[in-house]
Amino acid sequence: MPSLRPAVFLDRDGTLNVQVVRDGKPYPPQTVGEFQLFPGVPEACARLDAAGYVLVVATNQPDVGRGTQAQAVVEAMHAKLIQLVPSIARVEVCYAPGRGETPPDPRRKPSPGMLLDAARALGLDLARSWMIGDRWRDIDCGKRAGVRTVFIDFGYTEELREPPDFTVRSFDDAADVILHRPRS
Ligand SMILES: [Mg+2]
Repeated sequence: MPSLRPAVFLDRDGTLNVQVVRDGKPYPPQTVGEFQLFPGVPEACARLDAAGYVLVVATNQPDVGRGTQAQAVVEAMHAKLIQLVPSIARVEVCYAPGRGETPPDPRRKPSPGMLLDAARALGLDLARSWMIGDRWRDIDCGKRAGVRTVFIDFGYTEELREPPDFTVRSFDDAADVILHRPRS
């Protein structure tokens, strides 16, 4: 049986691509044209890939479930993302609207379903894996999946809930944290 591989789970909006910030709150891009990566993201992902980490995007896209965004537009954004960052192995998406739905979708962050599904599909070692994100849902999701967490702090008004393992100011710095701290 092949050994399990470590992964880096990546939030999308505000982690890989730039968001629109209104009143201190971040919003996702609305069009493929608005979907723009932060500088250095492809290079930082290539460094993680070269170090043996499987790169898996895990993104909530509730606007699709709420009917205010088309799933085809989100899928086109992800095609662009894979083209720009070919080291990404998989994209997990949750379209659940997330407003008091019962029962809550087990794949919607902060629930760990997307990470657990990817781990089963790709043979990932969660104990040696990481989650990078810019909001409390990412950090709590990572904690519940049993991976270490890196929080990219943009100074949003939103508060964290669980404390992250590390806090940085850019995606490039998040990659540095991971590359300098392999599981002992
Ligand atoms: Mg985000």
